Amino acid sequence: MLTIDGVWKTFQGHDVLKGIDLEVRPHEVVSLIGASGSGKSTLLRCVNLLETVDDGAILLDGEDITDPRVNVDDVRKRLGIVFQSFNLFPHMTVLDNITLAPRRVLKVGKERAEEQAHELLRRFGLENKARDYPDRLSGGQQQRVAIVRALAMQPRLMLLDEVTSALDPQLVVEVLAIIRELKDAGMTMILTTHEMSFCRDISDTVCFLDDGVLLEKGPPEQLFGAPEHARTKEFLRSVL
Ligand code: ADP
Ligand code: MG
Repeated sequence: MLTIDGVWKTFQGHDVLKGIDLEVRPHEVVSLIGASGSGKSTLLRCVNLLETVDDGAILLDGEDITDPRVNVDDVRKRLGIVFQSFNLFPHMTVLDNITLAPRRVLKVGKERAEEQAHELLRRFGLENKARDYPDRLSGGQQQRVAIVRALAMQPRLMLLDEVTSALDPQLVVEVLAIIRELKDAGMTMILTTHEMSFCRDISDTVCFLDDGVLLEKGPPEQLFGAPEHARTKEFLRSVL
């Protein structure tokens, strides 16, 4: 579904991504782990075209989305991205937050968009929050709404960047439960996380990034159980 082919990214003379190669198959959950500053967010931002790559290419369903002639809006329609901070529109109700993009971008009618939003809210236990403003919700609920909002665009691929990092520990669980449900429903995802036990549990493939290099990747049993590189072992020792 997604091919990242030799991607380089440089910020002010500093190489942040150094030739990343990665394949993501349909329904696969790929996790990116690595120290802060290793390039995980930058890689997700390159996939969503929030950053331009300096070399290499990214193919989504066979289409080179790093080609300058590509229609950025058309690509973003196919990708759902959720960040650490919730980024809900504070002046809009939950329902309006969720229906905005389907109505504006996909030109779905108001009634149909709201129907779909209610369906998603029901599915994720948020039905009674539809008319609330974001500041009435807990951090965990806000993040679940942010995920629902991304899902409302029916993305091919979800990109989740440390979606639990800003949450109190007791709220992390409910957000991880949503991600688990998405995996069970077959959603293709690339996520970055500091929740190592969750990562181990949910990932089909785990990638260890070290200073812009994808040093090691494999199924979680291998990466966590028998890491090959000294740097991977060192990182895992520091977080486990
Ligand atoms: P991670 O998500 O793994 O913590 P990031 O992708 O956020 O890492 O950052 C990788 C490196 O790129 C860091 O050294 C960071 O300071 C740098 N970086 C990220 N975004 C920018 C930017 N817009 N301008 C300059 N440097 C950046
Ligand atoms: Mg990051």
